[in-house]
Amino acid sequence: MMKNEYMEIAVTLPLDQTFTYKVPEHLSRRRPRPGMRVLVPFGKKRITGYVVRCHNQTPEFKTRDVLEVLDDAPMFPENELPFFKWISQYYIYPLGEVIKAGLPGGLERKDVSCVFPADPQPAGLELLTSQETRLMALLDKKPGASIKWLAGQADVPKAVSLIRKMEKKGLVRISAVLREEQTRAKLEKFIACTDAPPDDQARLSKKRIQILDLARQKGEISLSGLKEKIPTAPRLIRPMEAAGLIKVTSKRVFRDPLGDPVEPDTPPVLTREQALVLEQVEFDKGFVPYLLSGVTGSGKTEVYMRLTARAAEQGKNAVVLVPEIALISQTERRFRARFGENIAVIHSMLTPGEKLDQWRRILTGRAGIVIGARSAIFAPFENIGVIIVDEEHDSSYKQETTLRYNARDLALVRGKMHNCPVILGSATPSVHSYQNVVSGRFAHLELTCRVNSNPLPDITLVDLKKYKDGNPADRIITPELSKQIRACLDKGNQALIFLNRRGFATFPACRDCGASLSCRHCDVTMTFHKREQQYKCHLCGYTLNAPAACPKCGKKDIRDFGFGTQKIEDMLKAMFPDARLARMDQDSTSRKGSVLTLLKSIRNRTVDIIVGTQMLAKGHDFPSITLVGVICADLSLNLPDFRAAERTFQLLAQVAGRAGRGKAPGKVVMQTYAPEHFTIEAARRQDFRNFFNNEVPFRKALGYPPFTRMIQLKFSGTDPKKVTAAAMAAAGVITTLLGGSEARGLNRQIMGPIEAAIPRISGRYRWQLLLKDVSADRINRLVRAMMADPDVASFKDVRISVDVDPYFLM
Ligand code: ADP
Ligand code: ZN
Repeated sequence: MMKNEYMEIAVTLPLDQTFTYKVPEHLSRRRPRPGMRVLVPFGKKRITGYVVRCHNQTPEFKTRDVLEVLDDAPMFPENELPFFKWISQYYIYPLGEVIKAGLPGGLERKDVSCVFPADPQPAGLELLTSQETRLMALLDKKPGASIKWLAGQADVPKAVSLIRKMEKKGLVRISAVLREEQTRAKLEKFIACTDAPPDDQARLSKKRIQILDLARQKGEISLSGLKEKIPTAPRLIRPMEAAGLIKVTSKRVFRDPLGDPVEPDTPPVLTREQALVLEQVEFDKGFVPYLLSGVTGSGKTEVYMRLTARAAEQGKNAVVLVPEIALISQTERRFRARFGENIAVIHSMLTPGEKLDQWRRILTGRAGIVIGARSAIFAPFENIGVIIVDEEHDSSYKQETTLRYNARDLALVRGKMHNCPVILGSATPSVHSYQNVVSGRFAHLELTCRVNSNPLPDITLVDLKKYKDGNPADRIITPELSKQIRACLDKGNQALIFLNRRGFATFPACRDCGASLSCRHCDVTMTFHKREQQYKCHLCGYTLNAPAACPKCGKKDIRDFGFGTQKIEDMLKAMFPDARLARMDQDSTSRKGSVLTLLKSIRNRTVDIIVGTQMLAKGHDFPSITLVGVICADLSLNLPDFRAAERTFQLLAQVAGRAGRGKAPGKVVMQTYAPEHFTIEAARRQDFRNFFNNEVPFRKALGYPPFTRMIQLKFSGTDPKKVTAAAMAAAGVITTLLGGSEARGLNRQIMGPIEAAIPRISGRYRWQLLLKDVSADRINRLVRAMMADPDVASFKDVRISVDVDPYFLM
C-alpha cells in the first residue's frame, strides 16, 4: 500500500491559502487523514492546522514536517470539506478559520508569546517609567503571562510595543510557550471490585464495606456516583486500591447537559392540513427548498418531527435548527420525548467540553439527529436526509462576530450538497424567504389554522398621541392597558407586558446644562439601573455609580428621562399591589439557570404579571397568559436600517402570539405613536402577506435586498484618523476597480464610506462602506480584489471585517 507522504493543511491564521507539509515516518502510523487536527510549524511558531487532503506528489518547494497528529479520528467527515470551502469563498474568510469556527471551541493548540521577568534583572530598575513599573508589577504577579493578557491588563497605550521595547532593554524575556487545547474529553474514575479474599473485610470500616457492596452490585461504579452516596469516597478509594481491594480505571464519559428526564410521547393523529403538508415534501427528489408558513400553534413542530422520523427511517441524519431561546423552552423537550437518546443538542449555553461531547456522540454514530442553535449547521454528519430551520426569520441565525455567517442560508447550501429537502418554517417568514416563494425558487407549504382551533388573539391599538399632554404616567401605561390588566388579574389569569428596552431610565441628562450622560468608551447614552443604583453602558458594560456628575459641567444633578423594563415593573407594582410581579430581561437572567427558574414560575403560575424584553417574546408556550401588553410598538421602527420595519413586524407578531395559547381566548393591547403605519397594522392583523405586500415596493424602488445583494465592510480601530483613512482608501480602490460611472446604478452602488450610526464602541472608532449589486458573485470578486490591494492591506492598526449579507447595518 502506498503511503500518503504529503498533506495539504488549512492553518488557523488569517491567510487565504493552504500549505503543504510532509508526514515524517514516525507519524504515518497515526494515519493522519482529512478532518484531523495536526500541530505544524509556521514561521517561528507552532500552530494548529486541519488536514484537508493527503497526497503523494512531491512538491517543487522544500516542505516542513508535521510535528504532531492531534486526533485519532477525524473531527468532521471528509465530505464536509466542500461545505467549508464554499463558506470560505462566499464569506471571504480563511478556510482554516472557517473550520475552526465550525468545530467546538477550545480545540486549538498553538504557541503563544509569553513574557517572563529577565533573569538576572539588569541594574538600574529604579529608572523605570511609571508604565514600565506597572507592567513589571503585573509580571511579578503572573510570570509567563501571555503578551495579549498583559497588554489587556496593563491599561497603557500601545502596550504591546512597549513590552517589545522592554525586551530590547533586557527587562523581560519573551518566548513561545505551547498552549494546550482548553477543551478535552472528560475522564471519570470507575471503581470495580477485585477478587481479594473476603476475610479481609472483617477489618474494614463500615463505609469501605459499603463501597465494596456498591461496586459489586453494579459491577462497576463511577466515582461521582459513589460520592453521591458516600461523600468521603474520594479519600477512601486510594488506600483501598493500594490494598488490592478495588480496581480503579479512567474512562471517557459524556457530560450530560440536559436537565430533567423526559417522558416518551406518542405521536398524535395528524390534522388534515399537517398530513397534506407532509405529503407535499418529497424525499426522493434530492434538494428541494420549502417554506412552511403557519400561525403559532398550527402544528409546525409536529411536522418537523415527522420529517425527522422519515429521514431516520431511511437511515439518514436530520439537522434541526431552532433559535437559542426555544431550546431552553419546549422544542428540545418535545424532540427528546419523541426521539430519546438519538438526539444531540448543540447551542451556546453548553460549555465547550459539553459541546465536544455532543460532537463526539455524532461522530461515533450515537446520535443521528441534532437539534441546536445556529452552530448546529456544522454538525459532523455524513449523510443528511433533511434540514429544518424553525423560525427562519429569527436574527439569531446570523452570527455577528468573526465568521459572519447566516445559518438559515447555510442550511440551503448544505442541503444542496447532501441532496436533501430543506424546510424553513415560520409564522412570520422573512421578506427574503417569501420573495423566494413568489419568484418560484421555494415551494410553499402552509398551515392555516391552530390545531386546537383556538382563535388568534384579539389585538387592539392604543394611540399614544392622545396622551401627549396628559398625565406622564398615562403615556407609559395607558388607562386602556391598565383596565385590561385589572380585568385579566381579576379572572386569575396572567399578563405579559413587553418593552424591548431594559434598565430603569434610558436617557439620563444634566438638569443644568442639558448634556446627556454618555459612556466613556462608546457614543451612546448610559442607562440608569435603579436596583443597582448604577448607570450602565449596554454596549460595553462600563458602569458609573449614582449619583453621577455631569461630564460637561460637573454638577451632580442628573435627571433620568426615558424608561425601561425596570421602571415598568415599578409602576405596575404601584398600580397593582395585589399582583405578583417578575421581570425577564438580560439583567434579571445573568445568573446561570435563572432563565429556567423564571420560565418555571410563569408556568407554575406563581407570578401574575411578567415584564420582559424580546427574551420573552419568542417561542414560549404559556397557556395561562391571556393578556399581552406592548408598551411601545414602534420603538424599533425608525432605526436607520432598511430592515427596521421587518424586524418590528416580526417581533410584534411574535409577542402577540404569546396570548391565548391555552383554553381562554387571548387579548393584546399595543400602544403606539404610529397606529396608521402599515407595519403596526399588519402586526395587528397578524398577516405577514399584508406586511410583505406593503414592504416589497420600497425594497424594490430603493434597490435593497432581496432585490440586490449587499456586502458591508466594517472598519474599526483606536485611532479615528487611521480608521477614516482606511475606509477612504478602500472606497478609492473600489471606485478604481469599478471603473466608469456606467458601471453604477440603483442596483449597483457604493454607499459611503460613512461614519457608523454608533461612531464608537468600546473605545474603537467605526466606519462603514456598503456595497450592493444584483450579482452576489460580482460583488464578492470586487471585495476580494479590494482586500488584496496593497493600498488597503497596508493599514495595520485598523480591523476590516467583511459582512456578507449584513443583517444589522448600524
Ligand atoms: P407550532 O410549532 O406551529 O407553534 P405546535 O407544533 O407547537 O405548533 O403545535 C401546537 C400544539 O398542538 C402543541 O401543543 C402540539 O402538541 C399540539 N399538536 C400539534 N399537532 C397535533 C395533532 N396532530 N393532534 C393533536 N395535537 C397536536
Ligand atoms: Zn460603553
